Amino acid sequence: MANIIVVGAGHGGLTAAARLAAAGHSVTVFEKKNRNELGYDWHDRFSFSVLAKALDTTEDAFSPEIWEYRGDCAFISPAKRKNIVIRYDIESRQKIMWRKPLINMLVDHAEQCGVRFVFGVPVFGPELAGKSVTGIHTKHGVYSADLVIDAAGVFSPIRSKLPKYFHIENAPKDNDVFYAYRAYYKKTENVLPEAPFEVYLRHNGEKGLSWLYTAEDYVDILIGRTEPLSEEKLEETVSVFRFEHPWFNDQIVHGGSHGIIPVRRPLTLMVANGYAAVGDSAFMTTPMNGMGIDLSLQAGMLLADTVLHAPSDHLTADVLWEYNRDYHLLYGGETARNEGLKNALLSLSAQGVDFLFEQDVIQAADLSGAGRNLNLPALLGKFTRGMHKPPFFFTIINGLRKGSKAAALYQSPPPAYDLQAVIKWDKAIRACDI
Ligand SMILES: Cc1cc2nc3c(=O)[nH]c(=O)nc-3n(C[C@H](O)[C@H](O)[C@H](O)COP(=O)(O)OP(=O)(O)OC[C@H]3O[C@@H](n4cnc5c(N)ncnc54)[C@H](O)[C@@H]3O)c2cc1C
Repeated sequence: MANIIVVGAGHGGLTAAARLAAAGHSVTVFEKKNRNELGYDWHDRFSFSVLAKALDTTEDAFSPEIWEYRGDCAFISPAKRKNIVIRYDIESRQKIMWRKPLINMLVDHAEQCGVRFVFGVPVFGPELAGKSVTGIHTKHGVYSADLVIDAAGVFSPIRSKLPKYFHIENAPKDNDVFYAYRAYYKKTENVLPEAPFEVYLRHNGEKGLSWLYTAEDYVDILIGRTEPLSEEKLEETVSVFRFEHPWFNDQIVHGGSHGIIPVRRPLTLMVANGYAAVGDSAFMTTPMNGMGIDLSLQAGMLLADTVLHAPSDHLTADVLWEYNRDYHLLYGGETARNEGLKNALLSLSAQGVDFLFEQDVIQAADLSGAGRNLNLPALLGKFTRGMHKPPFFFTIINGLRKGSKAAALYQSPPPAYDLQAVIKWDKAIRACDI
């Protein structure tokens, strides 16, 4: 039986914790917030089938009171001259639910599986011995563990304090994160647009995107930028939205808070002796849309499987590499490709994004499938249309090419843990310069 500490009650950490405790390991989650403060006051989109798997249940177990469908989506070009509308059929409609009950379900399940929780205690950093993580530091002292699962989010105090010789990236770089603000405003008129979920690329000409979702009784606004958001900028952006959508007032009924989302490929190396990162702390999101819940849950399950197959409680990097490798084989490649497209779009001027929309170089399938619309006839059509303004077109093609090259590398990690081979592999991925 291993002694396992999970830092942060995030989706991936809670999923791994529940599975490991159910199998008889001793698992404690240290979370800096109090239990009633967990989660955010907003809805999230994710796959309910993945959540069901993480909770060892079926989708039927989620009563219709806890989720709702989000309506059709319109992507809007920076000059607002062209909309690309994505209509969802019964099968593909997007389901959303509030974040707080989602986290509570994961915490309750973990408790039922035997996980212990220490709420309201921030973890300061890792306890190290030689080239291993052997525990954590808190205000109550050091707690030792055979494995520390780092689920403490994008600015994890564990990952950021690992010494250089671990070869684990300590911090995200510029453009690796999105600064987001989200608030629900009170609706004042009975308006329901045909495509109520509007996504604005390079909104107001700025680097990033915004959305406005008109629901039955609120308007949900998200403003996401590559730079931190000032209060003036927020007010100005909300005012522009209100001018164009005069059916909400300035009363905030939910949310009204900031968050930071990693929008990049995952860490290449995310394990060490006694250490494994999951979720945002390993940058596991889909870069184009910042969705990380599914990937965190999947990673939590993969990590638990690896630990459960381990020959002993000596959880070294060699043993944990199975998790690292399998995550990249399943998801790392796809998300690296997606980062190529995201970075290319971000590097374009508003005029460039407008051109791509207006010439149908970017189409509904690209936006709903995030760059997967690459069959030959589709590419030939794009090529013909894109050649009217080659620099814009080639920026996107180049982004997709770099992303594909990195994706191929993510999908061929070293089969077994060998630090020198891992460093070489990581170097090749960096050389793709996504
Ligand atoms: C505005 C916004 C909207 C989003 N919408 C979606 C969406 O619709 N769908 C989707 O899939 N994703 C969405 N995301 C992304 C999603 O929130 C993350 O990808 C996901 O939460 C990652 O989960 P995680 O398991 O890594 O942990 P996190 O949710 O990052 O949780 C980390 C936990 O660690 C705790 N912690 C941090 N530091 C310490 C410490 N020092 N000691 C102890 N505990 C600590 C935190 O309090 C927190 O509880 C959104 C993010 C934002 C900001």
